[in-house]
Amino acid sequence: MSSSPRTLHSSIEYLKGIGPARAETLKKELGIYTQGQLLYHYPFRYIDKTHTNKISDIREDSPELQLKGKVVRMQMVEGRVRRLVVIFKDDTGIIELIWFRSIAWVQKYVVPGNEYLVFGKPTFYRGQPNIAHPEVELVGQDSVRGESKLISVYPSTEKLKKKGLDSKGIARAIQNLFQKLEERDFIDFIPAKILAEMKLPSRWIAFQNIHLAPNDQMMNWALKRIKFEEFFLLQMRILRLKTIRRKLAGFFFEHLGEGFNEFYKEKLPFELTGAQKRVMKEIRRDTVQGSQMNRLLQGDVGSGKTVVGVMTMLIGIDNDFQACMMAPTEILARQHFQGITELIDDLPIRVDILTGSIKGKKRKQLLADLAEGKIDILVGTHALIEPKVIFQNLGIAIIDEQHRFGVEQRSKLWSKNVRAPHVLVMTATPIPRTLAMTVHGDLDVSVIDELPPGRKPVKTVHKYDTARMEVFGFLREQIQLGRQVYIVYPLIEESETMDYKDLTDGHESIVRAFPECAISILHGRMKPADKDFEMARFVKGETQIMVATTVIEVGVNVPNASVMVIESTERFGLSQLHQLRGRVGRGADQSFCILMSSFKLSQEARKRIKTMCDTNDGFKIAEIDLEIRGPGNIQGTQQSGMSGLLLANIVRDQVLLHRAREAANEIIDDDPDLLLPEHQILKRYLDFLDKGKQHLEWSRIS
Ligand code: ADP
Ligand code: MG
Repeated sequence: MSSSPRTLHSSIEYLKGIGPARAETLKKELGIYTQGQLLYHYPFRYIDKTHTNKISDIREDSPELQLKGKVVRMQMVEGRVRRLVVIFKDDTGIIELIWFRSIAWVQKYVVPGNEYLVFGKPTFYRGQPNIAHPEVELVGQDSVRGESKLISVYPSTEKLKKKGLDSKGIARAIQNLFQKLEERDFIDFIPAKILAEMKLPSRWIAFQNIHLAPNDQMMNWALKRIKFEEFFLLQMRILRLKTIRRKLAGFFFEHLGEGFNEFYKEKLPFELTGAQKRVMKEIRRDTVQGSQMNRLLQGDVGSGKTVVGVMTMLIGIDNDFQACMMAPTEILARQHFQGITELIDDLPIRVDILTGSIKGKKRKQLLADLAEGKIDILVGTHALIEPKVIFQNLGIAIIDEQHRFGVEQRSKLWSKNVRAPHVLVMTATPIPRTLAMTVHGDLDVSVIDELPPGRKPVKTVHKYDTARMEVFGFLREQIQLGRQVYIVYPLIEESETMDYKDLTDGHESIVRAFPECAISILHGRMKPADKDFEMARFVKGETQIMVATTVIEVGVNVPNASVMVIESTERFGLSQLHQLRGRVGRGADQSFCILMSSFKLSQEARKRIKTMCDTNDGFKIAEIDLEIRGPGNIQGTQQSGMSGLLLANIVRDQVLLHRAREAANEIIDDDPDLLLPEHQILKRYLDFLDKGKQHLEWSRIS
C-alpha cells in the first residue's frame, strides 16, 4: 500500500507549530497523538465570510460576525488601559473597534475613509456594541486566506487555549498539515462503485473540504461523504459480526424437560401474556438451530422480562447446561436471586449468588462448586465475568438491564465455555426498532409490548417545590392506607458530595415531617450489607418511606410501594425518570408518581416533565428522549464502543443511514467474507477497526 506513513503516523509533536509542549496538551486534552488523528478533529461550525451583517442587527448574543463599512476616525485613548478606538460605520449604524495591542500595525493599516471588512465577536459596553481585536481587511484586497471564505471553528479546551491552540490555532495546525499531504495519503476504502452511485467525493477531497472548504457547497459535499463513511463502516462492522456469529456453532437445547414443564405447569404463579409466549417461542427457535443465540429482549418496565429469563435458563438446565443471570447492581442481583429461589421453589435446581462482596472462604467454595457443576443457576453482578469464575458447562447467560453492559463485556461471556453460550440481553430502555438495528446491530431483537393484565397506569403529576406541604399531606394519606413511598434524589457523579448532602438534608426533613413513620435510606456509598438490610426492611413493609438516590433505579420490585416522589426532577434524563416511575405500579393499587421541581426550568426539562405526565409508554418516551437528546446519549451507544459516529447523527441523518445500510447489505450479500479484489482495502480497514483502533490513520497497519 503506498502511502506516506511519515506524515500521518508521525507524532503530532513534529507538525509545524506544535512542538513537545503543545503535543503533550493535545494528547491529554483531545487524545490526539498523531498528525493523522488531527484530521478527525472536525470543526463544529463554520463562519461564512461571504456573508456580511448589519451593525443595527447586532444583539447581545450575536456570535462572531462580519461587517462591511467605512472607518470614520480613530483615536488613542489614554486611560487606565491604553487603547486605540476606531469608529466604524455602515448604512445602519456605528460600532467601536478596539485594540489594546498591535496598535502600531492598526494605525498603519487602517485609514479613515477607506472601506473594510471587519470580523469578530461583538460585546456590549453600556448598551453600545464594540469589537475588541477584530480582523480587518481592506475591501478589494485579496483575502489573507486565499480562496477560503468559510472559516472552520474548532472545539478547544481551556488548557489548549492557554497554549495558543484555540480554534484559530487548531485551524492553523490543520492548514500546516494539509500543506504536507497529498491524495495518496488518503486511501479510499469505500468501493468506487458506491461512491459513484452516491455521487460522493473521494476521501482526499472530503477531508480537505471538511476543514478548508472554499464554500458551503464543498463543505456539505464533504460532510455528506464523511457521514456516509461513518454509517457505512458501522453497518459493515455490524453485518460482519452477524455473519461471523451466525457461523458460530451454538449449543442445542433439544429437550423441554422436567424442570421447564414442572415450572410452567406447577410453579408459574400466573398465565404468561401473549407477548411473553411469543418471545419464549423466539428463544426456543434460536436455541435449537445450532447457532448461538444473541437476542435482545426489549420490554417496558414491569412487562415481565424476568420470568422469560428464568424459563430460558430452565431450558438450558434441562439440557444439562449451567445458566447465569447478570445484573447491573448488587441490590438487583440479590433481588433476582431471592425471586428466582422463590419461583423455583422445591425444584431440584441449585441457585446461588456471586457478587463483589462475597469473599474469602465462601467465594472459594462457591467457585469450586461452580466448576464442578454443582450450581445450576448463578446470579450475580459483573463479578460473573471475571476470569476466575469458571463454569463447568455454561449454556445460557441472561443479562438484565443491558444498558450497563457493553459489547465487550458480553463477548467476555462468550469465552466462558468451549462454545459461546446463548445470550439473552434484557432491557427496559427500549429504543425504536430502526435504531436498535444500528445500536445493537449484532443482536436479534424481541419485544414484549404488552403489560400483564390488571395493571393500572401510574398517575403522574408535576409539582413545584413550593407545594411540598401539599405533597407531604398526600403521602401521609397514602401511608395511612397502608402503602409505601419512595422519595428519590438525583445523583450526579461529578459532585457526589453535593448529592449526598441533598439526600441527607432531604432525609432529615422527611424524618421531621413524618415522625410516625419508619424511614429507610439507601445510597451508593453504603456497604452492601447495609443496603441489603435497608432494602429488606422496606420489602417486608417494616419501613413506610424509602429515601434513596438512583441506586434503586433498576429493577427493584416492591409491589406495595405505590408512590414515587422524584426530587429535582429537572436533573434527571427522561429514560431515567421512566425507569424510576417503573418502581411503582407493580401491585393492584392505583400508583402515583410526583415530579418535584423548582420554578426555573429549561425548555428541555419542561418537555421531559410534560412527556412523563402525558404518557406511560416506554417506547414513546424513548422516541421523545431521542428527539430531545439526540442519539449520542442513548444508553448503550457509547458503551457499545461500536458507534464511531463523530459527525453522523442517527436521527437527523436517517436517509443517509438507510443508504449506508443498503450499500453494506449489498456488499455482504455478494461477498460475505470480503474476498473479492475490490473489497480488499475495505476488509483490511474493517479488521483494523475491529482491533479498536478507531480514528487512527489506518495505513499504520500496512
Ligand atoms: P421487568 O420486565 O420490569 O423486569 P418483572 O419481570 O420484574 O418486570 O415483572 C414485574 C412483575 O410482574 C413481577 O412481580 C412479576 O411477577 C409480574 N409478572 C410477570 N409476568 C406476569 C404475567 N404474565 N402475569 C401477571 N404478572 C406477571
Ligand atoms: Mg427487570
